[in-house]
Amino acid sequence: MSIVSKKKALLVCEECLSRNYTLHKSTLSQRERLVIKKFCNTCNARTIHKESR
Ligand SMILES: [Zn+2]
Repeated sequence: MSIVSKKKALLVCEECLSRNYTLHKSTLSQRERLVIKKFCNTCNARTIHKESR
């Protein structure tokens, strides 16, 4: 087994708060909160997705 600290980050839609995306964060960008525009299936539109903790 390898000891690699992979952080999972959830991207949550700002509009409906559904968790649409997961991504692996590198430890370098640990402090920054991600804000990405992505497509939300629930809203059926491109919305702002923010990282949840
Ligand atoms: Zn949504």
